[in-house]
Amino acid sequence: MTLEEVKKEIRDIPDFPSKGILFKDLTTVFKNPQSMEYLTNILVDMYKDKKITKVIGIESRGFIFGAILAHKLHAGFVPVRKKGKLPASCFELDYKLEYGTATLEIHKDALNNNDTILIHDDLLATGGTLCAAIELTKMMGVKNIYANTIVELEFLHGKEAMDDVVVYNSLIRF
Ligand code: AMP
Repeated sequence: MTLEEVKKEIRDIPDFPSKGILFKDLTTVFKNPQSMEYLTNILVDMYKDKKITKVIGIESRGFIFGAILAHKLHAGFVPVRKKGKLPASCFELDYKLEYGTATLEIHKDALNNNDTILIHDDLLATGGTLCAAIELTKMMGVKNIYANTIVELEFLHGKEAMDDVVVYNSLIRF
């Protein structure tokens, strides 16, 4: 298997969730066990020597590989969720969407300043979501931050907005 083959499995859905957006649907990758295993092995190889203590998954598609990676890297799993979903006391951060704003939250006791973290989401578009998740973890004093998405939409330049302390990688680029 190759990353080019996985790239071909990603399904384009025009005008979802709103007109003008070409949605990259990864459920066609997630349903193929060979693709899941192949991507998992690549990601585990990338991060196995980084001493990751917690993997942060961004709601909701970031939970899929986030949980797999936490397990494979012998790290804890921490969810970052949309406002109002996490039950205990949270840090929260507003961030910009294409239209309007949204809020992400993380439990205040989820991380500490000795953690080395890997933040995972399925896809980087404008970078607003991942940057907000990074800022939330920095509020908790975390200094060693890796970030990863399966897909990067390079033409949106989301990486450029990211803090320099973060080591970011993607596997498949459009
Ligand atoms: P952004 O904050 O613009 O980087 O958007 C990233 C978040 O929105 C990720 O959680 C993605 O799952 C989702 N997303 C944004 N644009 C797309 C797209 N074209 N196809 C699939 N998911 C997208």
